Amino acid sequence: MDTYLSAKRTIMTPGPVEVDPRVLQAMSMPILGQFDPAFTNIMNQTMDQLRKLFQTENEWAYPVDGTSRSGIEAVLASLIERGDRVLVPIYGRFGHLLVEICERYGADVHKIECTWGTVFSEEEVINHIHAIKPNIVACVHGETSTGCMQPLAQIGKACREQGCLFVVDAVATIGGTDVLVDEWHIDAAIGGTQKCLSVPAGMAPITYNQRVEEVIARRKKVEQGIATKDDLDEPLRGTVVASNYFDLGMLQDYWSPRRLNHHTEATSMVYALHKGLAILLEEGLPHRFARHAYHEKALIAGLTAMGLELFVSHQHKLPMVTCVCVPVGLDADRVRAFMLHHFGVEIASSFGPLYGKIWRIGTMGYSCRKENILFVLAALEAALLHYGTKIETGKAVQAALSYYEQTEKSAMA
Ligand SMILES: *Cc1c(COP(=O)(O)O)cnc(C)c1O
Repeated sequence: MDTYLSAKRTIMTPGPVEVDPRVLQAMSMPILGQFDPAFTNIMNQTMDQLRKLFQTENEWAYPVDGTSRSGIEAVLASLIERGDRVLVPIYGRFGHLLVEICERYGADVHKIECTWGTVFSEEEVINHIHAIKPNIVACVHGETSTGCMQPLAQIGKACREQGCLFVVDAVATIGGTDVLVDEWHIDAAIGGTQKCLSVPAGMAPITYNQRVEEVIARRKKVEQGIATKDDLDEPLRGTVVASNYFDLGMLQDYWSPRRLNHHTEATSMVYALHKGLAILLEEGLPHRFARHAYHEKALIAGLTAMGLELFVSHQHKLPMVTCVCVPVGLDADRVRAFMLHHFGVEIASSFGPLYGKIWRIGTMGYSCRKENILFVLAALEAALLHYGTKIETGKAVQAALSYYEQTEKSAMA
């Protein structure tokens, strides 16, 4: 059975989200050889696009093959030497992922945690930086598991003053809201494709500055089978990165003019990323960020009109993920299954302590548009009524519609 061609879906999760048809089309283009100038030209353009996406002057901005966590792992594997102190502020599931990866590469990890659904005051993190004196601070910008966004600018400044590296997981936020890599003193940032970029999962765009490049250079090793005499004569000034696939020194050589062979590039994924970024830059970052914030408001208007409670409504709410409290006594997964079965609408549950307690509705990239907002509200209302939940009937779609009508009218005036 050709299952993946069967149903139309409206995907309103925090990833993967719907992919722009133009990206899907780009992925069906014929394969080019990875050293074909026609292809290396696309690689160079992609690097340029990524610098704009990350709002950085960094020389290095390129994708790592694999899902977003491959970018996170590549950065951490290439930076951490056994025993390095790493400070990780945890405010949701993906903070724990950072810890997990750091520990596997032999870091001495210091965690600080706050309640899921809240973020840290920057001052608190900075106090820990002063006390612990880490080599690296690794932090999530947008926690898709809780729907919160951590302020980073002051933390970055403190890291720079203290001389430690600042690594940021911007997987959820990149392309949906500002991630000011240079201004916030972020030394290495990792983005995601299947979230606000609306490209399928399978690549992780990263960028890093000279401070990171220095560590990479110190640990640089060229594979025996492809090394020149000069490479072999170069003395190693640090420990070799434990992973071959995720060694940024080698990836950088491949993305540099030297084009030193490493993996076989995932050609179709590069096409997809290149097209997705072209669409994004054509829309323009400010417009794209405003669009995410705009539809988020429509969704919130609908949800609250229905009488539902938001899990996060404070100023540090993640703009592209809205978490809704599941009414007491209701089976959260049955509601999701009903929406998917009857409407083809998908929303997400959550993890760990929040499992069954909240739904997460993503408004990311190509999925973040009016028809989707109206449809998810209609489907959720129908599902809640079906399971006998007391809600304000008939109000959700109307509230979103009147928001759209008002804003469209004032935009036209
Ligand atoms: C989705 C997500 C990830 C993991 O990405 P994968 O593509 O599944 O590897 C990491 N961090 C954050 C904040 C995310 O939202």
